[in-house]
Amino acid sequence: MKYIIVTGGVISGLGKGITTSSIAKILKSRGLNVTAIKIDPYLNYDAGTMNPYQHGEVFVLDDGGEVDLDLGNYERFLDTNLSFDHNITTGKVYKTVIERERRGEYLGKTVQIIPHITEEIKRRVKKIAVECDADVTIIEIGGTVGDIESMPFLEAMRQLWIEEGTRNVLFVHTTLVPIMDVVGEQKTKPTQHSVKELRSLGIQPDIIIGRAKERLTEETRRKISLFCNVPYEAVISAPDARSIYEVPLIFEEQGLGEYIMGKLQMWGEKPDWKEWKRFLRNLYNPKDEVTIGIVGKYVHLKDSYISHSESLTHASAKLRTKVNVKWIDSEDIEEKGVEILKGLHGILIPGGFGSRGSEGKIMAAQYARENNIPFLGVCFGFQLAVVEFARHVLGYEDANSTELHSSTSAPVIDLLPEQRNVENLGGTMRLGSQKIIIEKGSEAYRIYRRTNIYERHRHRYEVNPEYIEEFEKHGLHFSGKDESGERMEIFELPGHIFYMGAQFHPELKSRPLRPSPLHLELVRKAIEFKNS
Ligand code: GLN
Repeated sequence: MKYIIVTGGVISGLGKGITTSSIAKILKSRGLNVTAIKIDPYLNYDAGTMNPYQHGEVFVLDDGGEVDLDLGNYERFLDTNLSFDHNITTGKVYKTVIERERRGEYLGKTVQIIPHITEEIKRRVKKIAVECDADVTIIEIGGTVGDIESMPFLEAMRQLWIEEGTRNVLFVHTTLVPIMDVVGEQKTKPTQHSVKELRSLGIQPDIIIGRAKERLTEETRRKISLFCNVPYEAVISAPDARSIYEVPLIFEEQGLGEYIMGKLQMWGEKPDWKEWKRFLRNLYNPKDEVTIGIVGKYVHLKDSYISHSESLTHASAKLRTKVNVKWIDSEDIEEKGVEILKGLHGILIPGGFGSRGSEGKIMAAQYARENNIPFLGVCFGFQLAVVEFARHVLGYEDANSTELHSSTSAPVIDLLPEQRNVENLGGTMRLGSQKIIIEKGSEAYRIYRRTNIYERHRHRYEVNPEYIEEFEKHGLHFSGKDESGERMEIFELPGHIFYMGAQFHPELKSRPLRPSPLHLELVRKAIEFKNS
């Protein structure tokens, strides 16, 4: 069993997640069984209670785990489904250790960071490697080397290196190589300092990946090699790429795959990049282009909706059509009116919570419905489109979701019955993969081409069953339901070019070579709309 540990230096936001995903992809392309773990050194038990402005979108796994968005990248690059245990946080580690202490399992000992916390970290990492029967387990350590919070994790990885044998554990350090504008020279000092920091913790990196706008010059690589004590060929460039999906190829071209195989003494198949390259070729050579508006309240941090923009990228390659995403703050619609939606070929309202900006989203849904503009509402977007329909078609002026207005006279979106007695907010929504039954002959059936699908969920509210008959009578058709038939999962609007909503999150299962069916359809209809 081999382990690759990816750390970050100098600054956060270096694209460590993409680096990790790309290394995983390179090894997988050699026929190895690869899995990935993300360590988030924060104290939160999981990402579920955090605002998207903290770390970007909360990703949801099949098993309902609410995790860091990097797990979304791993899933997309590796085309695999991960589980909640693949995201290790300080909160999870301490909770286990403290519970064990309360049970008296430490037999009177003083419980300490070393060895008890570090043991628990290693136990979790090894457990995943064994459960996945992984040839290689890649562990990305969140944060930047030098952070107090990440110390126990780095110490645990140092111990792992000794325990598993130094030939079985490899350290990859990702750093920033800035360029000073005046001289235009790539500066290696920040890299030197962060490696020094890492070495003071007993970790010598085997490979250094330097993020810079351009490729690292020979001179830069030589300097990093000399001052950071790594071979010249182990200094790898991570220049800005046109697409994140090109990064594995950029690494491969520099010999990173072979270098890792040699270092870890592994043998694999000849890598096969045919399909991946075809995907990139399609992405880079569009025949047409459309503009899709994503209407949300966290649009100022693109990572808040990363799975949606990735899904549109996947659809873009499949349809050989460039998809321009226009980010629209729903509060701007409230202020300036629907005018700002003019010129869009499609509108997407993603998931969300709370009332701020919700009226703007309702306005966007109405605009799309009345002007025959392709529309996809996801989760909160689905719910608000239902509210819009109740207000303007059913005539309930006051219609709302009880999440936003608890005493509305027309609660068309209401708490799920099993949510009524929920007290804790962490990990208690209706989460993860759930079965959906699609009605034969519907538009949804035409898109999914099957009656049983599984998609991921994350919600507390649902369409109030008391209003279904009325909605149906007025043309809003619920073509996807859960197994009980009580819970609405998909709506469609016959006669409209494409007006669909999903209570689930199709974006979470979208993969480069297998786009989310609903995002694909949105782009397809946007092309049709544009050219009609
Ligand atoms: N706030 C809504 C709910 O809890 C929608 C959640 C979401 O969009 N993920 O049901």
